Amino acid sequence: MSALIYNALKDVWRPTPKLQVEDWLRTHVRFERGPILGAFDTKNSPWIREPLMELRNHDTREIICACSVQSAKTALAEGAMLYLIAEEGGDMCLYLQTDEHADEFLDTRFKHRILDCKPVTKLLARGDKSIQKRTVAFAHMTQYVMGANNIHNLQSKAARYVIGDEAAYWPHGHIGESRKRTTSFDARNSKRIYVSTPMNNSGEFYESFIAGSCSEWQVRCPECNEHWPMVLSQLRWDGDGAKLADGKYDLARIRDTVRYECPACHVMLKDDPRVRRSIANSGFYLNQNSAPDPRVKSYHWNALTVPWVSWDTIASEFLKAEYARKLGDYSPLAEFVRKRLGEFWDMREFQSEEVNLSGSFAMEEAWDQEFRRYMTVDVQRDYFRVVVRLWAQNGDSRLFYAGELHTWQQISDLQKRLDINGRRVFVDCGFERYQGEVYRQCAANDWIALKGDRAQFFTWTLMDKRTGRGKQVRRPYSQIQHVDSGVGLARASMRNARKADLCDRIMWSSDYIKLILHRLRAGQGASWQIAHNAPKWYFKEIQNEVFVTEKDKKTGKNKTYFKKLGENHSFDAEAMQVLAACIEKIIGQADVSETPSPKAPQAIEQHVVNA
Ligand SMILES: [Zn+2]
Repeated sequence: MSALIYNALKDVWRPTPKLQVEDWLRTHVRFERGPILGAFDTKNSPWIREPLMELRNHDTREIICACSVQSAKTALAEGAMLYLIAEEGGDMCLYLQTDEHADEFLDTRFKHRILDCKPVTKLLARGDKSIQKRTVAFAHMTQYVMGANNIHNLQSKAARYVIGDEAAYWPHGHIGESRKRTTSFDARNSKRIYVSTPMNNSGEFYESFIAGSCSEWQVRCPECNEHWPMVLSQLRWDGDGAKLADGKYDLARIRDTVRYECPACHVMLKDDPRVRRSIANSGFYLNQNSAPDPRVKSYHWNALTVPWVSWDTIASEFLKAEYARKLGDYSPLAEFVRKRLGEFWDMREFQSEEVNLSGSFAMEEAWDQEFRRYMTVDVQRDYFRVVVRLWAQNGDSRLFYAGELHTWQQISDLQKRLDINGRRVFVDCGFERYQGEVYRQCAANDWIALKGDRAQFFTWTLMDKRTGRGKQVRRPYSQIQHVDSGVGLARASMRNARKADLCDRIMWSSDYIKLILHRLRAGQGASWQIAHNAPKWYFKEIQNEVFVTEKDKKTGKNKTYFKKLGENHSFDAEAMQVLAACIEKIIGQADVSETPSPKAPQAIEQHVVNA
């Protein structure tokens, strides 16, 4: 066959060789609005080129981008969808945060992308009538555009492609549900793409990201050609001359001095659009994960590499956030880290500096300063978290035992083995379902049940020895209450209840006590130590509850509270230890006096509370 005939026929017999994704986008997609106008050219935002190239990689199932705002991440998702619709086909689910987001995106943005892109428009089943609320009907496939907050949207459709926008902000479990949509297409080069500014360094999006390649965007120094990721700590400005009396900065004066220092040759790079552009154009990705899931490609870039964001904008935002942090409000800094640096915010940043709590002693090692030993039990659905801590008279303490037990008998056996007085064993009765059982076990073993409460303090009436009169004091825990353990319920009258039927219970202010534990853990009080060979889960759990200051979205006011980051049962058990040490006046504040009580001290009655 002559070359002429072959060339004439090959387009008929064989499909046109597919263009590279970036070439296809440059040829067929134009931006009429947004920061970049004209043809979709990945030269403008080179950090999205490699994620787009992965669309044609048959080994890749999932593409995850954790990045800063205004850095072409939506353009990336749009480009990917247009390419897949025109060149591949197969049902597609696009999930935005809510149905409202989805409707707005399709109506005001993606509809125009479709109509402006010829190869996609000609595939519409019925012209522009094909674009309906939440669905776009193509001749060869359907695109669904839905909210990810609605679990039904995530469970109804099977699709070859799943695209997720701002997936870090979806309710927990919803990424997993969306992933299942493509199960039946995995043999046919299905793709899932999740693009988001990050949230915290925990949760589904974070787990998905770190399971992948963790490819970090690198750029080259125009001076020495060394490559490095762009980081905030290399940004320089002259703060000395710009500091105001109240500790804030004169941001206008800082603006002129902002520059980026090459960590290798220390050249100062100017905050100039041309400099930023040439640095961005030198970029490439470096995988940071030595053992990635080969089917998952994950990418990170931040605002420092985006040429249309000036470094002085970033410096100003950082300084404002840092000023707020010094006053105790971490929220602006958390926002800055997530939105500008595109990084996962480490919730532990809310804590004080890292303190080494690990002592030079082992579990169950004797301690010559021991004054008290308490056992505290956190009750879970299918196990008990048990902590034993030794306390010295001066408030110093050491972890002696931390374990997981499964039966009440095991707790009682451990108590005997470690020789702990029953009145120094405290069992959490906060778990409603097991409350009755906790009361019965406490009554039978002479242990004390503890119930955490939102109250800040409890008022006690005490006898003032000096004046002989009653006085009221506040304490972060209640007097002992005798609670019917249920054993004696059959009796006609509580008056006849035997002591053995009553459980001793103490209510306690969980915020107050946890704040003391927080300070001990941060090294801001007595020495609070952990045996060097304590279980790994203990170290994790003890860090999993942090003290947070955040702006309340509704009121705009700052609020501080304890935030749970994960399993925190050891933290709860340790809080009960702190309570026990408070009750015995080893640590904690002295009583806070209120007005003298008109009541005579003998009128104080211990209340019998029905369980
Ligand atoms: Zn350099």
